[in-house]
Amino acid sequence: MALEEYRRKRDFKKTPEPPGTVAKQPARELFFCVQKHLASHLHYDLRLEHNGVLLSWAVPKGPSLDPKTKRLAMHVEDHPRDYGEFEGVIPEGYGAGIVMLWDTGTWTPEVTDVDAALKTGDLKFTLNGYKLKGSWVLVRTGGRGGSSDARQWLLIKHRDDWSGDLDITEFAPKSVKSSGDFEDILAEDMPAVWRSNRPAKGGEASAMLATIIERAAKVKAEREKPASEKKAAPARKQTRKTPRKKAD
Ligand code: MN
Repeated sequence: MALEEYRRKRDFKKTPEPPGTVAKQPARELFFCVQKHLASHLHYDLRLEHNGVLLSWAVPKGPSLDPKTKRLAMHVEDHPRDYGEFEGVIPEGYGAGIVMLWDTGTWTPEVTDVDAALKTGDLKFTLNGYKLKGSWVLVRTGGRGGSSDARQWLLIKHRDDWSGDLDITEFAPKSVKSSGDFEDILAEDMPAVWRSNRPAKGGEASAMLATIIERAAKVKAEREKPASEKKAAPARKQTRKTPRKKAD
């Protein structure tokens, strides 16, 4: 609640009252998400709510929980706040492909002034998501020395209770919204796309997308089979000699 009602009832152009004194301490928790995006290349979009929009970085390899593994993060344009809830298919145009809501939660800046931190290129923050937690930093590395791309940042995990060697993108590859993988998202939400259409050829994404579309068709076909016809467990011969897999 905090200042929301206070602000709603006032026109700060007409009142000398300050619009709020808790500017450095958000009135409510700030949203963050990571969207796994199969477009021309697979990447992970980290988005942090700030001033009503989502600050966005495209992280090709996704976040790493290992402080030694610094991940390239390309600063991209701000996205609308609503986009942060989106999971589904972008049929055409920029970013065409499949978007999975890979993680979501709240974030807290560890700096007093986010805009200043963006300017200096050093934004420390805490995440409280399903998969990503604890302290992180985004550091701008581009734009120094003239030739490098000013949009280049690094996403780095700070050492804390939530850091470690676990490969989080491998360990937890699926959606926090639907629990599905890319093919499930297609199979659930866009049956018309995979059933009767093929993506337009020519883009880099089309080969990857075509594979996913095929997998989606299999997922759907498997789901629609009567229980008796569903794929049996691996043959007994193999399972007898295979040691039990360690739980992930
Ligand atoms: Mn993207």
